[in-house]
Amino acid sequence: MSVSNRIGIGYDIHRLVDGRKLVLGGVEIPFEKGLLGHSDSDVLSHAICDALLGAAALGDIGAHFPDNDPRWAGASSLDFLAHAVELVTDRGYRIANIDATVLTERPKLRPYIQAMRESLASVLRIDVDQVNVKAKTNEGLESIGRGEAMAAQAVAILKCERAD
Ligand code: MG
Repeated sequence: MSVSNRIGIGYDIHRLVDGRKLVLGGVEIPFEKGLLGHSDSDVLSHAICDALLGAAALGDIGAHFPDNDPRWAGASSLDFLAHAVELVTDRGYRIANIDATVLTERPKLRPYIQAMRESLASVLRIDVDQVNVKAKTNEGLESIGRGEAMAAQAVAILKCERAD
């Protein structure tokens, strides 16, 4: 039996604007602004999606879910994640763990971290202790620090076990 590990990295950023819901990791978070984009613009789920696709050398989220495709307009980003999980599991991989960081000045995300982990774990079909979500401010610097945008970073490790 040989086991190979694959690592993937994901990054995403969206503008914060009035009149949109704020959804992170599939959890709706009460805030006066939301993220601008074609789908629900769940920046955390998008970064995780790219980490998974990256680990399996399957390109990126833009290739699988083009933002000019009306099929995905207003889509839940959890649907993207579920599809990415299908793609990687079809190729024999299972997710070892995910670690992610959301960069935002406001709101404080600590009260929602556990709900995000549970929501993500359920879509990723892994245990909650295989998903970590962290939140950081940008110390008031640049677009994130000015509250104009929110970004997320993620890494994923996939494992593939093959009989020799
Ligand atoms: Mg995005």
